[in-house]
Amino acid sequence: MGWLTDWKRKRVLKKHRMDEHLWNAVAREFDFLRRNQSQKLKDLVLLFLAEKEFAGAHGFAVTDVIRLAIAAQACLPIRELGLDWYRGWRGIVVYPGDFKVRRTATDEDGVVHEWDDELAGEAMPGGPVVLSWDAAAHDAQINVVVHEFAHKLDMLNGEANGVPPLHAGMDRRAWQKAFAEAYEGFCDAVDRGRDTWLDPYAAEHPSEFFAVLSEAFFEQPAETKRRYPEVYDQLRLFYRQEPK
Ligand SMILES: [Zn+2]
Repeated sequence: MGWLTDWKRKRVLKKHRMDEHLWNAVAREFDFLRRNQSQKLKDLVLLFLAEKEFAGAHGFAVTDVIRLAIAAQACLPIRELGLDWYRGWRGIVVYPGDFKVRRTATDEDGVVHEWDDELAGEAMPGGPVVLSWDAAAHDAQINVVVHEFAHKLDMLNGEANGVPPLHAGMDRRAWQKAFAEAYEGFCDAVDRGRDTWLDPYAAEHPSEFFAVLSEAFFEQPAETKRRYPEVYDQLRLFYRQEPK
């Protein structure tokens, strides 16, 4: 990080303190935050709040609790990596509930298809993260915040493909092998219509598999380790955390 950023960040931390009352109110709502209440995380959250910009869609009022709840969850994955891992964009757009986006695609006959997708979150390459507050606050099946911010990490080295920039010393082949094997087995189970532990949405694309496993890694680390030991190991090396 540049000296100017460094200086600005030191100043933010000097001038701002975490509102502990607000923090506790948020931590009460999110189990995995309760387990992760370090000063390091709180400092990172203060920087995140200073550098990112929240906007409510359709006049939705983004309260301090909402800002903090999103910031704390977004910062957990980068607690040991630093805020520069969310570089290159600024905005977080919060919708009150799921939102529609218009999709278009051209098929091989040159016919353009248009349809609406209903989403709980979306991470735009080079642009904002868009979230449904209803899903972030109330959907126990997913962690849409960790999910979308995992996509942001994945996009740091180009199109989201399930492989974020790995650290020096990490073995790219080991990552690809662990994820490819787990992904194949998972897609196979989904194809056969079996009940899966992970959200079947993870079968959509390797980038979705990475995002969904990142949610599981932070929220249910023991079970993730038991079911996907090799993927767990790679995520542990990447996030530089041992949540279990
Ligand atoms: Zn996704």
